[in-house]
Amino acid sequence: TSPRLISSEKRGEDVDTNLRPQTLDEFVGQAAARANLKVFVEAARGRGEALDHVLFVGPPGLGKTTLAQIMAKEMGVNFRSTSGPVIVKAGDLAALLTNLEDRDVLFIDEIHRLSPAVEEILYPAMEDFQLDLIIGEGPAARSVKIDLARFTLVAATTRLGLITNPLRDRFGIPVRLNFYTVEELELIVRRGARILGLPLSDDGATEIARRARGTPRIAGRLLRRVRDFATVAGAETVTRTIADEALLRLEVDALGLDNLDRRYLSMILQNFGGGPVGIETIAAGLSEPRDAIEDIIEPYLIQQGFIQRTPRGRVLTANAWKHMGLEPPRNMAV
Ligand code: ADP
Repeated sequence: TSPRLISSEKRGEDVDTNLRPQTLDEFVGQAAARANLKVFVEAARGRGEALDHVLFVGPPGLGKTTLAQIMAKEMGVNFRSTSGPVIVKAGDLAALLTNLEDRDVLFIDEIHRLSPAVEEILYPAMEDFQLDLIIGEGPAARSVKIDLARFTLVAATTRLGLITNPLRDRFGIPVRLNFYTVEELELIVRRGARILGLPLSDDGATEIARRARGTPRIAGRLLRRVRDFATVAGAETVTRTIADEALLRLEVDALGLDNLDRRYLSMILQNFGGGPVGIETIAAGLSEPRDAIEDIIEPYLIQQGFIQRTPRGRVLTANAWKHMGLEPPRNMAV
């Protein structure tokens, strides 16, 4: 299957670009989160202490990793990065933790995917900056305590509900990231175009921003694809027309919905009369993992007012019917 253009999962192309903002001031949007983080960083710096542990929660591509890196930079400390599924054994995490220096930032992406055994050793590390390890097996086993540097754990997850309560309670600074407004995405797209050296008209920027699904990672990806299209078409400036043509070819519709979003909506419409339908049934019908549907497809559709989660399953709203070119049933609340 071809990779989903609009998916906000990380892909190679994001890694080697310099589109990532480097400071809190350069970071566009998430005003409330940014203002809070600024205060916490200043306070910690002023006291010469490590920043409290930070948990970023929000859909993929909204800037969790970027903010984690910025935290380290603003604190003037090292940034070490790993992710939940990569840490297999307790020893893997122990090795990471013992190599940290005072006030360093350890970033754990997808922290909800840590195994329970690994999570266990994270608790005392976060709370008392101590490692409790069992060395050896059977009667010869003994526990050792190792002191750790006073580090900051910055973690990211797509949904708060995926994290165990004891882990959640150990973060002093929980930060929720929301989808970006079109105006914010416009600033991000313009900045990206400047960095890429791509002439972009105002309405061209608006068009890309409107169709970026509220997500900076998608805005960056669309910008690159539009640039390719402009190059091939011999266009000097990316205008609204050029952007529009390019995005149509990419099958991104006027609201930024892609093929998979539309498959999701049309399946519920055609097979289930608009719902309610359970998430497992949707996952089976689309042949996509349930997690991906809940993390990537649904948050944006909910935010756009296209679906509602009810106890009996997902239900399409009148807006969704209209977006798919259908007349909503008469008795439907609008
Ligand atoms: P996450 O960790 O939430 O999945 P990332 O931090 O990896 O998301 O961000 C995805 C991409 O979007 C990165 O390439 C980054 O440069 C860009 N990005 C994210 N947030 C912003 C922002 N506020 N301003 C500009 N670019 C951003």
